[in-house]
Amino acid sequence: MLLNAKYLEEEDADNMIDVKPSFRKFVPVKLSLKYFLLGIILLVIVVGLSLKILYFTHYTSAVPNKLASSTNMALNSKGSESLDQLSPAITSAGPIKVVYGLPENQPVVYITIDDGWYPSQEVLKLMQQYHLPITTYLIEQAAQKHPDYWHEFVNAGGNIEDHNFNHPFLTHLSLADQKNQIYQPIDYFRQYGPPPDELRPPYGDYNSEVGQVAQASGIKYIVMWDAEMKDSTLSTRSGQGLKSGDIILLHWEPGLDQELIKLLNIIQKQNLGIADLTQALNGEPLIICWLKAPIPVSKPTPTKTTISRTTGTSGVKSTSRSK
Ligand SMILES: [Zn+2]
Repeated sequence: MLLNAKYLEEEDADNMIDVKPSFRKFVPVKLSLKYFLLGIILLVIVVGLSLKILYFTHYTSAVPNKLASSTNMALNSKGSESLDQLSPAITSAGPIKVVYGLPENQPVVYITIDDGWYPSQEVLKLMQQYHLPITTYLIEQAAQKHPDYWHEFVNAGGNIEDHNFNHPFLTHLSLADQKNQIYQPIDYFRQYGPPPDELRPPYGDYNSEVGQVAQASGIKYIVMWDAEMKDSTLSTRSGQGLKSGDIILLHWEPGLDQELIKLLNIIQKQNLGIADLTQALNGEPLIICWLKAPIPVSKPTPTKTTISRTTGTSGVKSTSRSK
């Protein structure tokens, strides 16, 4: 037994010797597993970075692609002007004065509404009831859908200015196309009063060439914005509250009347008045609209009472019944 035991011990010892090489074989396996895992992590990082680069490449190239398809077709007001586009703001446009806000020498703000695909009877009623001075930067192609409405808008104290024929990125057009985009609405909007002399470039996109073309077309001011009312929230360029001289951006979109009421109540709460932007730009004495009390918030506007972009040009009452 002892012999056997000794033999076994020796056999075990021999086995131990035999085990060592296989253990040595096992060590490289462990190491390669470590490297394998490291490789997987590196692969994940590389793939992640590649995806990020691809995303940004796509994102930055998406704007010109969108532009290419937008030059010959009008865009919905979704994805239009916004406060975000002002950063970083370009402040020169050749010979033209670019206005983001006005001096704070009077306790007033200015309301501007862009595009014009969804004119609203409720907004007209608010303008008439409170004598609101509103400047609208209209796309000619949108205005053509509801010509009667825009006469009512002007009769209610509204002012129509230039937002181009069909809302292109102006800086991507030839000078001739820029001229057509800027000048054609000036000519078209003569039916509503004095020809526009303010340009709001679609998407806030302008440069010195646009400024030169605009000036040659009769434009005096490129009017931007420094506050925006959107999704029931007022945002300002400064990140602070509303201040005197602010030019506030809104869009003709379904539910605009509710947005406008909320904005007016913010203005009223801050003891600010509302003045006509064109009067202010021209240095004329301001007729200021003061709201004495908050406006009651009514029920949200049903979409069917807002004139649809897709309906014809047969006027407000007939189109308002369409879906
Ligand atoms: Zn626009």
